[in-house]
Amino acid sequence: MALRFYNTLTRTSEEFAPITPGHVRMYTCGPTIHDFVHIGNFRTFMFEDLLRRYLKYKGLKVTQVMNLTDVDDKIIRKSTAEGISIQEYTRRYRTAFFDDLDALHIEHAEHFPAASEYIDAMVAMIQSLEKNGFAYQVDGNWYFRIQKFPGYGRLAGIKLDELKMGARIATDEYEKEQVGDFALWKAWDEGDGEVYWETPLGKGRPGWSIECSAMSTALLGNHFDIHTGGVDNIFPHHDNEIAQSVGATGEPFVNVWLHSAHLIVEGQKMAKSLGNFYTLRELLDRGYSPKAIRYLLLSKHYRQQLNFTFESLGASAETLQRLYDFIDNVTSATMKTAVPNPAVTRSVETVQDRFEEALDDDLNISPALGAIFDFVRDINRVMTKQKLSYEDGRNVLDTMGRFDTVLGVLAREAQPLDERVEALIREREAARKVKNWPRSDGIRDELASMGITLEDTASGTTWKRKVQ
Ligand code: AMP
Ligand code: ZN
Repeated sequence: MALRFYNTLTRTSEEFAPITPGHVRMYTCGPTIHDFVHIGNFRTFMFEDLLRRYLKYKGLKVTQVMNLTDVDDKIIRKSTAEGISIQEYTRRYRTAFFDDLDALHIEHAEHFPAASEYIDAMVAMIQSLEKNGFAYQVDGNWYFRIQKFPGYGRLAGIKLDELKMGARIATDEYEKEQVGDFALWKAWDEGDGEVYWETPLGKGRPGWSIECSAMSTALLGNHFDIHTGGVDNIFPHHDNEIAQSVGATGEPFVNVWLHSAHLIVEGQKMAKSLGNFYTLRELLDRGYSPKAIRYLLLSKHYRQQLNFTFESLGASAETLQRLYDFIDNVTSATMKTAVPNPAVTRSVETVQDRFEEALDDDLNISPALGAIFDFVRDINRVMTKQKLSYEDGRNVLDTMGRFDTVLGVLAREAQPLDERVEALIREREAARKVKNWPRSDGIRDELASMGITLEDTASGTTWKRKVQ
């Protein structure tokens, strides 16, 4: 089956084909680095990691851009309060963000541009917008003229006239032509302190949305494949991006828009005031494993809300333990048969088909995980009957390893198979010391059935794995 995604723009499930065959270019809205990132943000970043990993699993090359917002009102306010520059202020949260990504085994994007490094590209884009009649200036502030862009609001399904009516209350605050017009560039005022850029547009700083339009275009080209974010990004942020990019370049912008639903905590919106606002490090400090957190964040379809509870986190840890035990059991199973078992070969084919069929369907993770659990049950049955050969065992472990390139939860630090081999070798050495030849020969045979050959040398025993 071909890969399909639910496109927010068209509100339908569509077959996916990258613009350049074999190469996917995607942009993901990254964090505002004014504080530690919370687990709600990580729900979205985890969905994007699943997407990226699955595209790679399908053999596609991925170029992903995730921006880091290091210029915004909150950052300016907080850095001013501490009397430090925004660079100095954001550095610590940027470092923390990368530590968190690594703890959660979220793969790094190919590019992590920071807004402050792309001011020239933003200015150039606003100048193109002015040339094309989409941008105008009032007292040093630059705005986007939404009247000029009839498709504005299409991503969110909002009509232009509804927007104008709904927003009328706010008119007094602005000197814009239309209340819905949004800021591209903000003129400096005293509250901005030292944070400003002297540019042909005047002294000031960019609006939030121009950041993503300018950086995506600079790094991925005018027209690219996928743009992602959480549902809260759809409006106005992503509708603004479309208007800006199409307005500036006159070309199509993004083919597929994917948005993940929010994470809520114990059934409620996550909010500092409710005391249910968690950062990753808070959960790690409480002793929860990053793998269990990763599994929990992954385990629900990205377009469904995810209710985070400590109970579900505990259940994720148990589920993972079952998978680890399974891998250990396959690794250490005594292989009584030498020939591949056709039932195992069939199970491997079935689980692979089911895993791919599920994820091909808009990353439908639940049936993909369900297929893995059925597989575990089938193989456990084969093991109980001692009908697993060494080759079957390898096949099973390789299959789990392939799935794990997508899931990222199974790999543990040491290679389990190597650990088992080392343990048997140590046991054999101990047996030889006490001249327990039957045990030492028995271990040699067991290792041989696993494809391991031993060589006793003056300096100890070495081992080789037969390439199969
Ligand atoms: P921000 O740092 O607020 O710009 O958010 C970074 C990303 O996290 C964006 O893609 C948001 O849509 C997403 N996000 C924010 N809150 C949540 C939440 N509670 N659940 C899922 N995603 C979220
Ligand atoms: Zn963005």
